[in-house]
Amino acid sequence: MREKFIASVSHEMRTPLNAIYGMGNLLAGTPLDSEQGSYISAILESSKLLLGIINDILDVSALQYGDIKIEEGHVPIRELLASLLSAMEFKKKEKDIRLYLDIAPDVPTHIHGDGLRINQILYNLMGNAIKYTERGQVGLKVSMADPSQTRCTIQFAVCDTGIGIAQEHLPQVFDTFKRVESSERLYEGAGLGLAIVKNLVDLLKGQIRVESQLGKGSVFTVCLPVGVSNELHETNAASPETEPLPQTAWRILVVEDNKMNMVVARKTLQRCFPHIVIDEAEHGGVAVQKLQCSSYDLVLMDLQMPVVDGYEATKAIRTELPPPANTTPVVAMTANAFVAKEQEDLFELGFDHYLLKPFHPDDLRNVVLRYLRRST
Ligand code: ADP
Repeated sequence: MREKFIASVSHEMRTPLNAIYGMGNLLAGTPLDSEQGSYISAILESSKLLLGIINDILDVSALQYGDIKIEEGHVPIRELLASLLSAMEFKKKEKDIRLYLDIAPDVPTHIHGDGLRINQILYNLMGNAIKYTERGQVGLKVSMADPSQTRCTIQFAVCDTGIGIAQEHLPQVFDTFKRVESSERLYEGAGLGLAIVKNLVDLLKGQIRVESQLGKGSVFTVCLPVGVSNELHETNAASPETEPLPQTAWRILVVEDNKMNMVVARKTLQRCFPHIVIDEAEHGGVAVQKLQCSSYDLVLMDLQMPVVDGYEATKAIRTELPPPANTTPVVAMTANAFVAKEQEDLFELGFDHYLLKPFHPDDLRNVVLRYLRRST
């Protein structure tokens, strides 16, 4: 019930946000003067911020109700830290601060743990450190305790020379919706980041502590139990983004009831693949009919639609249509943030992949490329 409510609210908020973000990206790619350019980047920045808040609210709710699962695997930790740092270089923009990464020599190249969650924790802490620091430096120091054991502890210390937190406020910083006023300046935020971090650290059976001095800076230290693996991991093959595009007139069927989001999908596809042929269906029933008459290389399918929704339509494609229509790749496009949880059900129903709205044009491009290359 609660989950259904959150899923539907998140859907209701993400659907228009997808139109704002998608149209904004399209507009940013047209000729604009510098004033218009600055307005459009403000629109894009604000929609990303809003999306961040919606995601945080969903995360807090999922964490509080124990809906988040830990998924352990081989984590290329040094690689993860390096790409985190370059994301942060981007985040700090023109701020006059130095970023550094200090990794102790005994930190291995791979650990066994939940890379996604470790990244989320560090991303939040580093993001805060940059947000609350105007000058000086922000750094991440990483070290190991007991690296000789197969289970050991990895320690991350996020240090900044920013505004700091008053002693009396320190015990509350990890509370939900708690924001501490330490400065004249107003910083944007909803007070959810540290609550999420604390919950994630607890889930990973680790510890977090903070030391801070008002006006001098803060250090957030996270200790997590992880496994150490000496196995080498194969490097990825060439990524699809770097390969040249074939000039094929692929046929894609976009199934979407929201008119604005249909425009976003169509225009974004046309911009990524100038030779593509796009057909449209306003609900799943129309899509199944179209697949009976013509063949497509890929179907992009919204999930919640009137008349026949994306679930029913995909089931019909897989079970009722003759070959080869019944094997057409179907990618779900959804604004429901719990889709990751339903991933297995989606695969069972016959979907090949999913794309969470709002999506960046590159996400759509990469998913489409992945399936279209197979059909050439
Ligand atoms: P917010 O979205 O407000 O940043 P957080 O939960 O991430 O929410 O942080 C809670 C409060 O803790 C912030 O409002 C801020 O007052 C304080 N805080 C967090 N990190 C830092 C930091 N690195 N330096 C100073 N204050 C911080």
